This record gives sequence, structure tokens and C-alpha cells, in this order.
Amino acid sequence: MKKFLFFLTAFLITSFILLWILPVMGDFERDPGIESPMAFMALESENFPHYSIEAIYSQGKIYGEEEIVYTNITGQTLKHLFFMLPASAAAPGGEIKVYSVFVNDYPVEWEAKNTYLVVYLPLELNPYEKCRVSISFDTMVPQGPYRLGRWNGTSMLTCWYPAVPINWDVVVPSSFGEPYSFLSATYELKISVDPSLMVLSGLNKLNCSFDGSRKVYTFSSDKPIRDASLVVGNFNIKNHKVGSKNIIYAYKTYDYNIIKYTIDSFKTFQKWFGEYPYQKLVLVDVPLKGFRGMEYGGILFFSTIKRPDPFTVVHEVAHQWWYGLVGNDQDKESWIDEGLANYSALLYIEERMGKKEYLSRIKSLESRAMGVNEPKELDLSHYTSSSHYHLNAYVRGALFWHDVRVKLGERKKLIHILGGIQHSFIHGHITWGEIKNILEKENIFI
Ligand SMILES: [Zn+2]
Repeated sequence: MKKFLFFLTAFLITSFILLWILPVMGDFERDPGIESPMAFMALESENFPHYSIEAIYSQGKIYGEEEIVYTNITGQTLKHLFFMLPASAAAPGGEIKVYSVFVNDYPVEWEAKNTYLVVYLPLELNPYEKCRVSISFDTMVPQGPYRLGRWNGTSMLTCWYPAVPINWDVVVPSSFGEPYSFLSATYELKISVDPSLMVLSGLNKLNCSFDGSRKVYTFSSDKPIRDASLVVGNFNIKNHKVGSKNIIYAYKTYDYNIIKYTIDSFKTFQKWFGEYPYQKLVLVDVPLKGFRGMEYGGILFFSTIKRPDPFTVVHEVAHQWWYGLVGNDQDKESWIDEGLANYSALLYIEERMGKKEYLSRIKSLESRAMGVNEPKELDLSHYTSSSHYHLNAYVRGALFWHDVRVKLGERKKLIHILGGIQHSFIHGHITWGEIKNILEKENIFI
């Protein structure tokens, strides 16, 4: 018996050392036979990922320490976790380098490649169990008018930290579209910058103070939000109150149309799709090439290089509902949020300019769609070109909803269905299959 107890104790100690103590650092090579969990369960409020990030932004680099409290919502027992390293997918020259990973304070094996990080868990994580993943990283912010870039004194810091994606798939960087997607999460963020600069974020600002020669901002989000994107630079600020919400316009040159169409469409979308749950929506002028506007959690970018027209402004505001509040895998099913944002903007045009204008725009989309009103269901990297992607995500993505409305026979019914999707999937994400199931219940078969 004594012998047995001795061996049992020795076995337990050895297992503990092997599983928890052995530090294995660096670029761990392993056959990437990474199994992706089949499906994610609906998120309960306490099960959203929670990020605590401390970062220093200096001379084109972000030095970050991140802690993610991760809950296993996959419905399966997990032996590894999959994180996205979205910087290289978002901008040419963008890169996240991982230096160390700890799970519950123990060093673990990990493998980082271009767009992803796999963390091998020392102990299996059962459904609904939590673990704390600490990651040291730094992020190259390339010089250029990019979504992750710095140009003319303004830095656009998006896709800059290791993040929990919607699906555990390796994303191939693409020169068009948004080859990334994130689970909504709660955040605590502390970032220090040069004292002459301002930091803007869709998260709630808690404090701004000076620490020696640095300016330190702290942000948090009590409600889950899609991402923690930042803009660093100097701006004029004007606040517009819309009910209890603040529309904060951080501008270089005040554009009356941006604020006018943002406020009016924001009110309209709240009426149709449900209340915007955050305290503020930030609009910011940035030097962005290739896009007139870009959507992030609680913050919209408007390009100073190619100014947005009113339709683009409304399209970006709609993304706060279709991307921000109800997400989707933008790499695998890019037409969901783009189609819905475009169609919401068309509904808004109809509301303000009448049915004739709406129908004339539908007609022009139909002439571009070449007789096919349903998007070709391809991964971003499988579209042959930017225009092929645009045709499917934006044009056919919007026409799909026009056809649904024709089949329903009533505009009001369609708005009601879209409001219902918002209500059921808020802070979560939706698939094309789920959308088709919802429509089948209304006797709409596509
Ligand atoms: Zn869009």
C-alpha cells in the first residue's frame, strides 16, 4: 500500500511538473492539425471574453501586456485555444509578435504564425470552465494611411492585439474586405502615448493623466463591444447629444453632412433595430486610403483622403448594428454585414427621399448584379478580385434583402424581422444558415 501511495504521489508530481511548470517558450512548431470546435454556444452575459490590456504606444510600435479571461463556450472539451493575430490581415506591414503566453500564471506551449496564435492548455478546459490567458506582445504599426497605420500625425490602431475570433479558422490576408472577426467582449484598457497626443476610442474613457513624460488613458466597457479600436492624434472635438447618447465628432475639417446624416440615421436605426446600448458613438477623421469609411466598435472612421458621401455615412452608421451589435464571420460570410448595412442605408434613403428614389437605386443595383440577386457564398480569399467581392457582398448582399421584402409583401414586416434578429443575436453573431432558417419560418425560401 505504501509503495502504491509512493508511486501515486510520484506520478501526480511528475504530471504536475509536465503539465504546468515546464516552460516552453518561443515559436513552437507543431503539425497544424488544429481541430476547430464545431459550434459556439450562445453567449451568456458572464461568458464574454474579458480583456485587460496595458499598452505603450511609441514610435510606431505598441508594446502590450494582455490578459484574457476566456470561457469555453464551444460545447466541447478543449485542449488548445485559438486566437487571431489580425494586424497582418488588416494592413500591409502590420504584424503582432508574441513573446510569451501563460495560462493561469503557468508558462505553456504555444505556436504563433502570421495571423493566428494557438495556445496548448496544460489541463483540458471543460464546457463553461474559464481560464486566464496572459500574452506579452508587440505590434508594428506601419507607416501609411491604413486601418492599422500612421500617417500625417494620426495613428489608426485597429486589429492591434491578439483577439478571440468568431470562428477558429486561419485567415488569409486579403487586399480587400475585412479578413477578421471578433467575439464581442468586455475590456479594461490602459494605454500611454506621447503627451501631445489624444486617444479616441469607442470604449468609455475613465481617466487621462500624466505619468512622467507620458500621457496615460484608461478605458473600459461595461457592456460587450465588438473590438477596442483606437485613434491617436490631434483633433477638434464637438459633442452632439441624441437623447441620452453622445455623438462625438473628432474632426480635422468640420463636415456638416457627416454629422447631419449620422444623427438622423442613428435615430432611425434605433427606432427600427433597437436602442444603441453604449454611451457614445465616436466619428473620427482619419487619413484612410481605399475606404471612404470603416466601422469599429463604438467608433467610425471617415477618410480625409476620399471624403464620404451621405450614403457611405449612413452605411457606416448601420454597421454599428450589423457588425457591432450583431456580428458575423466577415472572412467566411462577408455579405452578411455588408449586405445588411447597404440595405439598411437603402431603407433610410427610402424613409427620407421616398419610394421612387429607393426603387431607382434598386434598379441600378440590379443592372450591376447581372441577373443574380443572391451573393456567391465564398471566403474572402476566394473572390477573384475586389470588384467580384464588391458585387457579391454589397450589391447582391443588399438585393437579397430587397427580394425578401418583395416576397413578404410589406416593408414594415421586413423591418420587424431585422429588429427581431437584433433582439435575438445582440452582442453575438449570426450565420447565413441561421438567417435562412429565420426566413423559412416566414415562409420565405431562398
Ligand atoms: Zn461596410
